[in-house]
Amino acid sequence: MASSGLVRRDHSFSGMTTYKFGGPARWYAEIGTGQELMMLLEARRAEAEPPSVFVLGRGSNVVVSDQGFDGLVIHLVGDFNSIFIESGVVIAGAGVSLPMLARHCSSHGRGGLEFYVGIPGTVGGAVVMNAGGHGSDTAEWLIDATLVDIETAGMRIADPFQLDLSYRHSTVGSHELVTRARFRTVERAVGESEQLMREITSWRRAHQPGGTFNAGSVFKNPPGDAAGRIIDAAGLKGYRRGGAAVSERHANFFVAEPEACAQDVFDLVSAVRAEVSQRTGIDLEPEIRFVGDFGEGL
Ligand SMILES: Cc1cc2nc3c(=O)[nH]c(=O)nc-3n(C[C@H](O)[C@H](O)[C@H](O)COP(=O)(O)OP(=O)(O)OC[C@H]3O[C@@H](n4cnc5c(N)ncnc54)[C@H](O)[C@@H]3O)c2cc1C
Repeated sequence: MASSGLVRRDHSFSGMTTYKFGGPARWYAEIGTGQELMMLLEARRAEAEPPSVFVLGRGSNVVVSDQGFDGLVIHLVGDFNSIFIESGVVIAGAGVSLPMLARHCSSHGRGGLEFYVGIPGTVGGAVVMNAGGHGSDTAEWLIDATLVDIETAGMRIADPFQLDLSYRHSTVGSHELVTRARFRTVERAVGESEQLMREITSWRRAHQPGGTFNAGSVFKNPPGDAAGRIIDAAGLKGYRRGGAAVSERHANFFVAEPEACAQDVFDLVSAVRAEVSQRTGIDLEPEIRFVGDFGEGL
C-alpha cells in the first residue's frame, strides 16, 4: 500500500472519532480528489492480499476497537468538502460536515436541511445511516448519491429508493464509498431558517449530554417506542462498565470518561442489551457501528 504514496501506516484513530479512542489503522489515507481515489483503489487492488477497507466520515457513529483496524481507512477531504447550490439543488461532497451544510444552505435562503445542524457527521455518513431528527431524515431531501465500488472502481448514482433508505438504514455496502450527494431544498427566508436551527440546537442542549464523549443514540428506537425510555424504565441510567456509563440525561447516550476505552463501551452496550432483553423481552438493535475486534458480546 505504501507504494501509492497516499497512505500512512499505523495512524491513530483517537482524534478521528467523537468517542476519541480506538487503536491505530494499519493504513490510513486522506483522499482529496477523484484522481487520488482512483490511484488508491488501484494500488490496493495491486496488492497480493488487498486490505479490507473502512470509510471514515466524522466518526460520530462508530466505536473503533482498542486494537485498531487491521486494514485501510479512507477519509475524504479536499474536493470532497465542496458545496454548490444550483437552482435550489445542493450538491455536496461526501466529506462535508452536516452542520456546515445546514448553515450554508440557510445563508443562501434554502431550507429543508436545518435538521442537520445538530448532527455532527458528514454527508457520506448521513447517506449510509439515513441520518435524521426533528421530524425529518436524509431520505426526505436526498435526490441521489454517487457511489464508487471499492473493488471495481465502478461508479453508480442511486436515489433513496435504490438505496432502500429507511429509519437509520441503507443498503450502501461496506465495499462502497459515497463521494457526493444531491439534495433538493425549499426557498426559506434566512431569518426563519436561522430561527429553526436555534430551536434545534437549544432542544439538543436541553435533552442531550453535551460536552461529553459519545456517538449519539446507541440503539435504534423500536417501532412506536424510544430506546432511551426503555433503558430508563429498566432502571439502567448510570449503569456502567469501566469508564463508560449510560447517561443520566438521556439513557440512549452512553458517555465515556476520558480514561474509558472502546472495550468499555462495547461491554456496556452488550450488558445493557442483555439486561433490557431479560427484563422486558425487547431486543434493542445497535445503531452505532463497531469497527475491529471486540471479542464476544452484543
Ligand atoms: C452528539 C451526537 C448526536 C447525534 N445525533 C444524531 C441524530 O440526531 N440523528 C442521527 O441520525 N444521528 C445522530 N448522530 C449519529 C451520527 O452523527 C450520524 O449517524 C452521522 O450520519 C454519521 O456520520 P459520520 O460522517 O460521522 O459517519 P461515521 O461515524 O464516520 O461512519 C458511520 C458509517 O458510515 C460509513 N461512512 C461514512 N462516510 C462514508 C462514505 N463517504 N462512504 C461510505 N461509507 C461511509 C462508515 O463506514 C460507517 O459504517 C449523533 C452523533 C453524536 C455524536
